[in-house]
Amino acid sequence: MSQTSLLLERLGALIQRSVRDDAARHGLLPIHLQVLLFLMRANRYSDLPIAIAEYFGITRGTVSQTIAVLERKGLLTREADARHGKRVHLTLTAAGKSVLNRSWVERVEQALCEQAVEAATLESTLRNLLSVMQRSNGQRAFGLCRECAHFLTEQSGARCGLTHEPLATEQTVRICREWSAAKAERA
Ligand code: SF4
Repeated sequence: MSQTSLLLERLGALIQRSVRDDAARHGLLPIHLQVLLFLMRANRYSDLPIAIAEYFGITRGTVSQTIAVLERKGLLTREADARHGKRVHLTLTAAGKSVLNRSWVERVEQALCEQAVEAATLESTLRNLLSVMQRSNGQRAFGLCRECAHFLTEQSGARCGLTHEPLATEQTVRICREWSAAKAERA
């Protein structure tokens, strides 16, 4: 057996503990903090309750309860979609963003900076591993928009080839529930 699986298991356990500790400092549960982090990174097709349920593999009931808590604490707001009926977008408030300051993410980033490894290579390896495991578990990949098979660059800027809508630059570096692997990767 390779040591890599065991190392990933230990890292996962340590990160889970850090998430628990960070959440407790703010009087939150780990899932509350994880949802805030997800919304910070999600694009406009994914800042939705259904996307949260898919991303974490939790029920819509749990998502509703989580959103209600975060809203009550003033950490996020809901905004109705101007064009799609009952769809509701979720946005972090300034207080919600500040909860994520000095979180476990920064500590991991700091530790990574201290390693003599090529960050891009490590990221690519981990992303590929995640992709394989998500596929075998039947989960959506939630990849980066600008790395999606549907991503188009035109003279006027970026566009989504799936929805045919223009994409603001800040949206292209976010994650998306509609993401699809590039054709070369799928072959
Ligand atoms: S290009 Fe892909 S990742 Fe980006 S918004 Fe469209 S479907 Fe989502």
